[in-house]
Amino acid sequence: MVVKKYVEMLGRKSAIRELFDYGAARAKEVGYENVFDYSLGNPSVAVPKAFNEALAALALSGEDLAVHGYSPSLGIFSVRQAIAESLRKRFALPYEAKHIFMTTGAAGALAHALRAVAEPGSEILTFAPYFPEYGPYVEGAGCTLRVVPAQEEDFQIDFEALEKMLSNNTSAVLINTPNNPSGVVYSAETLVRLADMLEIKQREFGHAIYLISDEPYREIIFGGRECPYAARFYDNTITCYSFSKSLSLPGERIGYVAVNPACQDAALIVEMCGQISRGIGHNCPPSIIQLAVAQVLDQTADLSVYETNKEILYTALTKMGFSCVEPGGTFYMFPCAPGGDAEAFSQKAKEFDLLLVPGTSFGCPGHFRISYCIDTEKVKRSLQAFQKLAEVYFG
Ligand code: PLP
Repeated sequence: MVVKKYVEMLGRKSAIRELFDYGAARAKEVGYENVFDYSLGNPSVAVPKAFNEALAALALSGEDLAVHGYSPSLGIFSVRQAIAESLRKRFALPYEAKHIFMTTGAAGALAHALRAVAEPGSEILTFAPYFPEYGPYVEGAGCTLRVVPAQEEDFQIDFEALEKMLSNNTSAVLINTPNNPSGVVYSAETLVRLADMLEIKQREFGHAIYLISDEPYREIIFGGRECPYAARFYDNTITCYSFSKSLSLPGERIGYVAVNPACQDAALIVEMCGQISRGIGHNCPPSIIQLAVAQVLDQTADLSVYETNKEILYTALTKMGFSCVEPGGTFYMFPCAPGGDAEAFSQKAKEFDLLLVPGTSFGCPGHFRISYCIDTEKVKRSLQAFQKLAEVYFG
């Protein structure tokens, strides 16, 4: 007999994917250039030349065993060392190779981090709006995801709500900054308050509450700022990173877990990740990709187009009457759906060939997500369609 749980999941397909499929079909009818597909979070900028050159040189090096052979289960040691050094320099925390575990993207990192610190049956708290895949990630680890309601005025943390939901059964709190779907960056003040609250609750409950910080958008930050690094604020932090967005490499499936050196059982957690891999088969990320990213750790793709697109959309949409918390990073924004029903709004938007994802699956049904990792020229052309949509609601 097939397993019922996964059959049921087939009936709950991603709203984002469905919208994307609709867009592809619609493009065949009216032409690709006439469909404004703001559904997927697929990076649109070129991979840095240095990465492709490193990859080509590795492929042609003749070192087939090192380049194409199995990676050690924790990742290639020299790569882990290089990542630790880069984090040490950038964030002034004493990372060493023993704190780094190589993974297949942030998804792989989260799968390991959750299993390492959350006993099946325990609770993971996250904050609306949140990345919908957290549901299956947490469920897959045998835990329950509980969502702290959004603080709608700025999408920072509602601490009163968080305090009420923290319990003796909370094993970890999962944050995502800069955030998909809101684009909001947690301020240093938010991270200080979060750390203070978790410290108090750890003492009260007599066990660790880990902070799992999902950071695939850490490098996509606007206004020349730095994203406050969660691990600097709270010792028991496990950072889950991905090169998918910073280097435009989502198909290469590469990322890492970095356990704060001051975290309880830090090196043990990394060793445990190697054992977790054995069970979930999410093991040994490609050697050649590990070796290539290690050569470009301090580089990014040219991410400036995302800020350009944000400026155009945020300025135009707020002028048209939409209300929106201004994104501080990523390539997403999350305005309020006029009328309050994002599903109806998203349906209406389709009439203008605008594909906008309703906020329901992000835990905020009154909002919609715009994923603006598309050409600036297309963003500009889409404004007419937004204007027509705005006229339906604002007159
Ligand atoms: N976390 C968030 C918030 C994301 O938006 C994504 C991908 O879009 C992931 C995790 C998964 O990242 P990856 O593709 O590197 O596994």
